[in-house]
Amino acid sequence: MIRLVDVSKAYVRTGLALDNVSLHVAKGEFIFLTGPSGSGKSTLLKLVFMEERPTAGEVRVSGVNSATLKRGDIAQLRRKLGVVFQDFRLLDDRTAHANVAFALEVTGAAPNVIPAKVNRLLTQVGLASKAQAFPRELSGGEQQRVAIARALVNDPFVLIADEPTGNLDDRATRGVFQLLREINAAGTAVLMATHNVELMRRSEYRTIEMLHGRLVADSADPAVAARAAARRAEDDAAARAAAVRPSVPLIDDQQDSPLTVQ
Ligand code: ADP
Repeated sequence: MIRLVDVSKAYVRTGLALDNVSLHVAKGEFIFLTGPSGSGKSTLLKLVFMEERPTAGEVRVSGVNSATLKRGDIAQLRRKLGVVFQDFRLLDDRTAHANVAFALEVTGAAPNVIPAKVNRLLTQVGLASKAQAFPRELSGGEQQRVAIARALVNDPFVLIADEPTGNLDDRATRGVFQLLREINAAGTAVLMATHNVELMRRSEYRTIEMLHGRLVADSADPAVAARAAARRAEDDAAARAAAVRPSVPLIDDQQDSPLTVQ
């Protein structure tokens, strides 16, 4: 369904953001993606919804391959996945209902089916009573629910959520997380980047940890942690070897050097 094979991503100005990452997301899975800021979580998610292309390796998502992208592939892919962000990204001048309706309009849904579908989605996210409210009239948690409803318009096979609770207080965080759990229980895979240790601790979902662009732990695959530990040992050994190697030429070498003034 989603597969990353030996994927690296380098940005021109900041260097390697992902370093040889391989990952398989099965149908209907819920995965937490965690790790410190700058460890590559957003980059990994952007590669999955193909906002970014890998520098090396392949990203395969629902039959679309980053290595052989054809015209129209990305538009077709975006219809099959939903994305939500920390900052909601709603249209400020449209009501909750109109925000969700707009997402259906742009995918060419028949106008006569749109209102009923929007009402169903807003009911699903617990916001039927706020359909006519503008984003500024909604709490952060409510705005994120609208964003989630909008992400579900095309019945995606996966919902990608980049720090969806990052701007929310504890109560709203629990509510939004519960909603994501329900969406997952109904069959949609969820790939969620988060810093929230409490959420991860209180659930049984697969947890993947990133550091410096690498996967360093995967609760579903202890081999990932073993490989990361082996890599760390190699890095440490290389650092130790570099430390004992003299960084300045030995005196004898300097005497042999043609640049040395005798
Ligand atoms: P996280 O989501 O874990 O905070 P990111 O994926 O945003 O990490 O960032 C990983 C690394 O890639 C960071 O060093 C960041 O500076 C760099 N990076 C992310 N996006 C860009 C970009 N558009 N251009 C250049 N560098 C970027």
